[in-house]
Amino acid sequence: MKTLLQPFHLSRTAKKSIQKHLPRLKTEHIHPYRIPVSCPDISEKEERYVRLAMESKWISGKGPYVEKFEQLFASQVSHTKYAIAVNSGTSALHLSLLACNIGPGDEVIIPTFTMIATANAVRYTGATPVCVDADLATWNMDVTKIEARITKRTKAIAPVHIYGLPVDMHPIQKLAKKYGLWVIEDAAEAHGAEYRGHRVGGLGDVAAFSFFANKIITTGEGGMITTNNKKIAHVVRTLRGHAFTRDYHFWHQYVGYSYEMTNLAAGVGLGQTERFRTFVAKRKKHAMLYTKLLHGIPGITTPPQLRGYVSANWMYGVLVDSTKYGVNRNDLRMILAKKGIETRPFFVPIHMQPPYQLASVGSYPVSEKLCCDGLYLPSGSTLTDDEITYVATIIRKTQK
Ligand SMILES: *Cc1c(COP(=O)(O)O)cnc(C)c1O
Repeated sequence: MKTLLQPFHLSRTAKKSIQKHLPRLKTEHIHPYRIPVSCPDISEKEERYVRLAMESKWISGKGPYVEKFEQLFASQVSHTKYAIAVNSGTSALHLSLLACNIGPGDEVIIPTFTMIATANAVRYTGATPVCVDADLATWNMDVTKIEARITKRTKAIAPVHIYGLPVDMHPIQKLAKKYGLWVIEDAAEAHGAEYRGHRVGGLGDVAAFSFFANKIITTGEGGMITTNNKKIAHVVRTLRGHAFTRDYHFWHQYVGYSYEMTNLAAGVGLGQTERFRTFVAKRKKHAMLYTKLLHGIPGITTPPQLRGYVSANWMYGVLVDSTKYGVNRNDLRMILAKKGIETRPFFVPIHMQPPYQLASVGSYPVSEKLCCDGLYLPSGSTLTDDEITYVATIIRKTQK
């Protein structure tokens, strides 16, 4: 067993293949970008709450904003009974998994096309992440490929609503019922998204949100767990703060964690949640404008739009088919960077990550295609229509 501080190495052939597909974009000299890929939307409201929290001297995990933020989040955003704030989206995932009693020897099914934290949180519990390929039509996990990966050790399915678009949850709910599995939503990118009239965060047994600076609402670093399960809520509340008991000071029945959200961060979160509706509306407007302006460019695929689904429009991604567009994804990124436009490539799938490649079996062609062809454009509520038009115009002009 490796210790955590030993890096994982790639075989020489794997390294070559990664260098070929994922060359480093040497854009350091371009900073600062004229249009950053994402910028937090912070107002005086958040500044005021932070100031009030400072003045009250309640700056750690105890303090009125934590509870206020949780209550508003639960009622307004996820429509769940319980919301528990923590210090990151990854801690939210970790505690959600622990609350479902997932540990060594267990398997958790995740999409391979996701951000690394989904897999890492599974690994923290001692369980093994089992990957499923993506669906090219949605960029989300291919729900038809889940059942084949279920074994006697499978304890949970953890769908991720990629870039803000909900996963098709009905088939997952059905499988969970058939095999007695937990459903843990990674809703880090999908704050406010809806699936067949229901908000994400309440579609499984428990869900995790992230409030990293580029997420739909931010607290700097932070996360939230939502659930309708009273027992899960209780376990999560206990574990996030060292598992202190009410009965006796400094006596602990569980190995707890130091995962609490500070009252300062919760002040920011409360302000953000009060402004949440405008964020959603702006993101929707921006996505519609991008889609309109990019429509019909050969070789450019805009984000999937599905009936019955409301995306949270976290990041506006496109796929570049170089045979039709005439320029590949990496060159397009460089051209945009030279014009002062910051972009990001799509996620590198989990099965290609050094700490996980050995554990994974099977083939994941769709995720690898997304990884090679996808990039996301400047996104977020602070963008202007002029900026979006500028980006789209360059993409159109670059086509050969
Ligand atoms: C951002 C993100 C996380 C991790 O959130 P942190 O708050 O950065 O820990 C987890 N899963 C997904 C899918 C994410 O996008």
